[in-house]
Amino acid sequence: MKAISISRKPGHSGQNTPHLDALSTTYVKSPHMISGWANTWVRIKLHWTQFQILRHCYKNPLDWIGGLHYLLKLRRNILGKHRIRKMVRLNDQYYTDLYIPGWKDSSYNRFVASYLYHFKPHKEKVNRLNQVFLAVTKKCPFQCEHCSAWDTLNLKDVLEAKDFQPILEEVYSLGVSQLYFTGGEPLLKIELLESLISKIPKNVKSWIATSGFPLTSEKALQLKKAGLTGVFISLDHYEAERHNSFRHHDSAYSWALKAAQNALDAQLAVTFSICLSNEMCQEEELLKYMKLAKECGVHFVQFLEPQATGRYRNREVSLSQESIASAEALYLKMNFGKEYLDYPIIHYSGYYHRRVGCFA
Ligand code: SF4
Repeated sequence: MKAISISRKPGHSGQNTPHLDALSTTYVKSPHMISGWANTWVRIKLHWTQFQILRHCYKNPLDWIGGLHYLLKLRRNILGKHRIRKMVRLNDQYYTDLYIPGWKDSSYNRFVASYLYHFKPHKEKVNRLNQVFLAVTKKCPFQCEHCSAWDTLNLKDVLEAKDFQPILEEVYSLGVSQLYFTGGEPLLKIELLESLISKIPKNVKSWIATSGFPLTSEKALQLKKAGLTGVFISLDHYEAERHNSFRHHDSAYSWALKAAQNALDAQLAVTFSICLSNEMCQEEELLKYMKLAKECGVHFVQFLEPQATGRYRNREVSLSQESIASAEALYLKMNFGKEYLDYPIIHYSGYYHRRVGCFA
């Protein structure tokens, strides 16, 4: 479900585009964002947890100081000197970023211990893998302009349901922080997902990356009950016609927003994943998109940049330098400024990669 785009065709669905004002009455949710003193207090407790992890990992107090310095340096390399002013609180856990397990969960402790291993090896259990993406089907009802799975889309699935659990057992034996089920459209295999998710070890968090393909309230609750942490929902424009046109499906937008609503009701973490385009990178456009995300009540927004792969292979799809500068400026303002404390947290891989390289 990689969302990657650069150009837009004119809308063709004929579907009415909901206005933001109308959406605000229909979709307003409690966004679960914390800031101010609540944020400071949680951060103090979070640092205390990190200190406890350091004590478990190392006997020498000098390593506690060195390890703490290592973690701070790591954060500074990625985020610069910006202060984290907000967090997501969900199901009594606290999230500072989309790809970091929530604090107050055993997966968070394992995640930190795994990073500390790079500072200095220790005997606590660590994860060899940070994130694993597993495509459970090649089938999909969409025909997205940017599809990275285009070469194999809707071909016959090679793996059968029985093949997945043994693969995952190997992944678990290596240790993994977060597991992402993708496709094609993974929700086409809802029974398989439910079965796999119900067998995931407690210290591994799981997500589904979907187009929103009818994620009904029953399915959302079914997946939550099985142990799912959250969903990524692809949404590439704040206007229905533009999103539908890009995805070549008249229901894409309504499915995406309804999926978000149902996932939120089921207490799942929800991320809108947007494929940036030069047009969308203008500040005014991004602000409209972020306003919609906030009004829908989602917790995170993921910015993705177009790549010349899949259906975009051999095409010039990179963002311009001006677009990148604009998207990065908005990312900084929205995540670290005081003005947007109640907006979703943005995860922008391109921003981090340009500074520290690939996390993998
Ligand atoms: S066509 Fe299907 S698999 Fe490809 S990007 Fe679109 S939703 Fe994802």
